[in-house]
Amino acid sequence: MSQSDSVETKLIHAGELRPRIYGAVNLPIFQSATFEYGGEADYNDIRYIRLNNTPNHNVLHAKLAAIESAEAAIVSASGMAAISTALLSILSQGDHILMQDCLYGGTHDFVTKDLPALGIEYDFIDASRPSTWDAKLRPTTKAIYVESIANPLMDVPDLAAIVDFARAHKIVSMIDNTFASPINFRPAEIGFDLSLHSCTKYLNGHSDIVAGACIGKAEIVKGVTHKLNHFGGTLDPHAAFLLHRGMKTLALRVRQQNESALAIAQYLEKHPAISTVNYPGLEKHSSHVHAKTWFDGFGGMLSFELKVDSPSLTDQFFGALQLPICAPSLGGVESLITRPATTSHLGMSSEDRERIGIKDSLVRFSTGIEATKDLIADFDQALKVLATAVR
Ligand SMILES: *Cc1c(COP(=O)(O)O)cnc(C)c1O
Repeated sequence: MSQSDSVETKLIHAGELRPRIYGAVNLPIFQSATFEYGGEADYNDIRYIRLNNTPNHNVLHAKLAAIESAEAAIVSASGMAAISTALLSILSQGDHILMQDCLYGGTHDFVTKDLPALGIEYDFIDASRPSTWDAKLRPTTKAIYVESIANPLMDVPDLAAIVDFARAHKIVSMIDNTFASPINFRPAEIGFDLSLHSCTKYLNGHSDIVAGACIGKAEIVKGVTHKLNHFGGTLDPHAAFLLHRGMKTLALRVRQQNESALAIAQYLEKHPAISTVNYPGLEKHSSHVHAKTWFDGFGGMLSFELKVDSPSLTDQFFGALQLPICAPSLGGVESLITRPATTSHLGMSSEDRERIGIKDSLVRFSTGIEATKDLIADFDQALKVLATAVR
């Protein structure tokens, strides 16, 4: 394993224990809450599952850091455990943070409801308009937070400008890199301090566990680790084992998802029943230049609007689809389809949704690894059913 190895090789070999345990090709599950005392001098070094330092944790930490070309990583019980713990390790009472205005729902709720109760203030920024950020900066601003691809319109912020701004003002740059995945974007390579993941999605890729990760500067990850040790949002060894197993195929899955999503977006863009397609791989998309500049692929997530803005018609369309499952979440091997108005953005009023560009009939699609032509054929037959219904 050398530093120069490609991400595909790192996914298989980085961080693996040498020598292998009894020659086992796969890392066994260390189902032991506690470990024999070995002279540890610091509380955080005592081996105990909650302290995130069993072999199952340590191998994942090394592998995650390696695949994002970062110094260190820590896994957690969920993406929200990673995000909330990271925010609370960087911010304390009296501090202020700049947040992208279109955030994952759980993050949005945490920042707008829980942080103020702890005396931590926030301001929203339009992450694509750097000229507007200075006005929001305060002497107490400690961090700036964005998502590599924002749900559900798939906007990509001005990522290099975020890093420059954070450096110029000596604040921490944080990015939720869940949607892009480390295959398409590695935040540390352009200078982000901390990358956050819901490993529930692409990293595990099989929709069978909930897990999270913080990846970035060693000093920051150390702070997050100590907070996580107190809050107890530890990943359990069984889930760590499944995440480790899932990650080995990350590159293969994401490349297939990139390819399929682009083909589906191009198909939908030409379809007469579809009015808009949001996919950063399409030249027409407002974030295409940003995505092309920093990403190796455009991802597996897309959204689109039917020409007829009718939730009941959208429901008929969902009913006619044979392959995608109507379920929240994303990034698994199976294609999933949802209507953000009834899932991720249900907490907002219809008017507020409309203001940020989310129509009631907006459809979000998470591309699985089914054959591209089968997915397109399925969309084709379901859109025909729709055409009959409109007539
Ligand atoms: C799902 C998700 C989260 C939350 O992750 P959990 O694993 O469900 O806690 C955070 N950010 C993004 C972008 C997500 O898609």
